Amino acid sequence: MDGIEADYLIIGAGAAGMAFTDELISHSDASVVMVDRRHAPGGHWNDAYPFVRLHTPSRTYGVNSRPLGNDTVDQHGPNAGYYERATAAEICDYYQRVMDEQFLPSGQVRFLNMSDYTGEGTDGHRVVSRLAGDETRVNVRRKVVDATYLETAVPATHTPAFTVDPAARLVSPNRLVNLDEAPTGYTILGSGKTAMDTCNWLLDQGVSPGKIRWVRPRDQWILDRGSLQPLEQVASVMEWLSLGLEAAAGASNVDDLFRRLEACGHLHRLDPDVEPTMFRGPILSQAERESLRQVEDVVRLGRVRYIGADRIELEQGTIPTDPRHVHIDCTAAALRDAPARPIFEPGRVTLQPVMAGFLPFSAALLGYIEATRDDDADKNRLSPPNPFPNAAADYMSNIFIMTSAQAEWAKEPDIIEWVEGARMYVSAGARNHMADPRMQAAVQRLATNTEPAMVNLHRMMSEGQPAAAGGPA
Ligand SMILES: Cc1cc2nc3c(=O)[nH]c(=O)nc-3n(C[C@H](O)[C@H](O)[C@H](O)COP(=O)(O)OP(=O)(O)OC[C@H]3O[C@@H](n4cnc5c(N)ncnc54)[C@H](O)[C@@H]3O)c2cc1C
Repeated sequence: MDGIEADYLIIGAGAAGMAFTDELISHSDASVVMVDRRHAPGGHWNDAYPFVRLHTPSRTYGVNSRPLGNDTVDQHGPNAGYYERATAAEICDYYQRVMDEQFLPSGQVRFLNMSDYTGEGTDGHRVVSRLAGDETRVNVRRKVVDATYLETAVPATHTPAFTVDPAARLVSPNRLVNLDEAPTGYTILGSGKTAMDTCNWLLDQGVSPGKIRWVRPRDQWILDRGSLQPLEQVASVMEWLSLGLEAAAGASNVDDLFRRLEACGHLHRLDPDVEPTMFRGPILSQAERESLRQVEDVVRLGRVRYIGADRIELEQGTIPTDPRHVHIDCTAAALRDAPARPIFEPGRVTLQPVMAGFLPFSAALLGYIEATRDDDADKNRLSPPNPFPNAAADYMSNIFIMTSAQAEWAKEPDIIEWVEGARMYVSAGARNHMADPRMQAAVQRLATNTEPAMVNLHRMMSEGQPAAAGGPA
């Protein structure tokens, strides 16, 4: 068994592990061993369906030290008028270049790919090569960084929670591009962003809405892409945030909050007659939402239990199908619903979002904080974990935790300077747009509403939340 030493052992070279490492080595001379069971950095993007893109602008994704894309504003398609969003292929290439052109040449990082982290033994942390079978012992001088805590489940690699008769056709979205014959119809399974992407892709390919059926156990609240644009459109973010806090300040209860958030355009739903109970942070343009509304055959009978040659059994009923019908599995949970735990502990860092919905930005901030501070309590004060939402009401704690964290950052000049200068910070450079009347109105709204919103959100959260089922899409 070989032995190596490093200051940090990073388990997982996905978006979180890469963004953390980038900032850590940019601000310290720490040595790092990164381990991933996949062949390349980038995590789940290596198994993504071919038509996926980021749902946030490329500007807000990746690692801090290297641009992703060119900050081009798209001129055509459903993203017209908004900043470009990378494809999975671009993202994988990007992370490979970060590894090959930055991390490895720095001399600070060693990457053990195709290797499983199997835990800590008496003589160090164990890493086993998936191909050679060799075990490497890693002696960690400072910390183990768990960048797998939220490990992402994607359709290509997860196991569905329902059974399928061999005579029925179930495919992941990845396999749609390999179909060689038009089926009798398509049934999309799942309520999440993958289901939305798949539905829109089929429609874009010319499949008629009447041939698509959508099993949607829960309806979701949706964010508008136009509200989350960086750079020259940053006023959109400030306006969106300020309208959300204005709604939170005035709401009498949780139901009233969601009425207000919808009325001001902060959140959207697909079906005006169905109250969403789910929020996983999907971002769609208005054109994409309108496209999805063309699919009228929406099945709301709970989750699928069984797909047979002639029927689909759901929690609350049965619907017909046939062997030439294609069922598309979009039920993977994406990020795991992991309970919040302290991010910084003796000998350990557990990467989690701090700014809701922006995991790479959060991981980069955590890397900077780890590199520049010694006391774990101080680091945790600046980094309250902000669990990935599931039920609609989780949105309240997302906003509350994020706003509390920003108040703590504001007390530390170097953190504010880092955040304002961070490539991936969606509101970076907002203060340079103060001539914009939208920005002025947003700043005024934030000044009036932030404190009352925090008091009111805290009250509503402590009064309990309405029932809204959790679980995968
Ligand atoms: C389809 C999709 C689109 C998304 N789009 C956006 C977006 O536009 N903007 C945004 O901000 N967020 C987006 N997200 C959310 C989030 O940013 C991404 O999911 C992010 O890539 C997650 O990165 P991660 O590092 O936490 O997880 P992963 O990508 O799952 O990486 C974890 C890595 O750990 C490795 N690993 C796990 N256990 C072990 C072990 N024991 N030994 C060795 N290796 C191990 C795995 O192989 C994996 O490579 C999206 C998520 C999905 C699913």
